[in-house]
Amino acid sequence: MTEVTQGQWKGRFGSAMMRTLATPQLMLERGEGCRVWDVDGNEYLDFLAGIAVNSLGHAHPALVEAVSRQVGTLAHVSNYFSTRPQLELAERLRQITGAGEQGRVLFGNSGAEANEAAFKLARLNRGRSGRRTRVLALHNAFHGRTMGSLALTGKPPMREAFEPLPGGVEHIDSTIEALEAAIDDRVAALFVEPIKGEAGVLELPDGFLQRARELTEQHGALLILDEIQTGVGRTGRWFAYQHAGILPDAVTVAKGIAGGVPIGALVTFGRASELFTQGQHGSTFGGNPLATAAGNAVLAEIEGADLVGNAARRGEELRAIIRSFDHPLIGDVRGAGLLIGIGLTDGEAHRLSAAALAQGLIINAPNESSIRLAPPLIVGDAELAEFREKFGRALAAL
Ligand SMILES: *Cc1c(COP(=O)(O)O)cnc(C)c1O
Repeated sequence: MTEVTQGQWKGRFGSAMMRTLATPQLMLERGEGCRVWDVDGNEYLDFLAGIAVNSLGHAHPALVEAVSRQVGTLAHVSNYFSTRPQLELAERLRQITGAGEQGRVLFGNSGAEANEAAFKLARLNRGRSGRRTRVLALHNAFHGRTMGSLALTGKPPMREAFEPLPGGVEHIDSTIEALEAAIDDRVAALFVEPIKGEAGVLELPDGFLQRARELTEQHGALLILDEIQTGVGRTGRWFAYQHAGILPDAVTVAKGIAGGVPIGALVTFGRASELFTQGQHGSTFGGNPLATAAGNAVLAEIEGADLVGNAARRGEELRAIIRSFDHPLIGDVRGAGLLIGIGLTDGEAHRLSAAALAQGLIINAPNESSIRLAPPLIVGDAELAEFREKFGRALAAL
């Protein structure tokens, strides 16, 4: 039975799906809480959550109820009309980001689209003289796969086949010294991923965000933070920049805000809210009532159940569990809250994630020397105990 099911879907996948994706190891059928089941009925503990997307885990009743109710009421209306869920989510985002009354929100459907909008915002910061032609971004940062967001992405192997990309972007090292050397009055914006998730959960040097805030302010450049992976509670604060005690000029959000319903948003602060004018950007689906109702349900649940606090506490516990293994393969433990990177002392990440999967545990290898964990923000004692057992068995099986 297993062979039959596996053989069938893998062949179909290889034939019908674009070759951009490697054939996945599993076909999943359903989920509940922090668990998913494959088509053969095997159960897995999900410590990836669709890459930091399923904030409330799978099939959370609050999300199921909100989406079901909204799709049965009004799913989509076009941007010729507004809806209650849309305005409610925009106001929530202004509030949790700290953008407040001067904040504005532009909705899209993905992280890449949120960054495309942010890139366009950066272009509008050229000023009357048109001097601001430079955009700075960081080596190794990931900002998306569309042409503009790819231009911002600091990973040459992803970019090369698609050049020429939108111009003016320069990538610098993630150090205060490199930033000080690069910035001047011709910089329109600095894009920063506060913790580089796709690069293996790499943190910035201490003081980087504070210095970036000072320098961008001094030179009139926008500080634009990509919180698509780190945002909405993931790191133990609503946003990672809140650990640094700064406010950006704009922040992009997506992954975790609607628990799996596609959405993205650009939130602007202060004078950056005045840059876009009527007709300069838009999206058919962006901000529709279905996606924004999902976002409201997820954010209300994160707030009501203090899942931001849970992410901070459970993140500490999870880090302690990982350190307790005292296994020669485990190097440093990185990240914040429930976005955790495990640096491996040897290039065994794909073997380790495959061994974990065989034990019924989903973890991720963003590269050969790192394991990434991004469990649902609802994890509790039972899930952490199960992780300890399954991860331990995976390490032992290597
Ligand atoms: C996932 C991600 C993106 C791209 O989001 P998509 O929804 O895949 O387009 C951009 N930036 C960061 C930091 C991400 O983690």
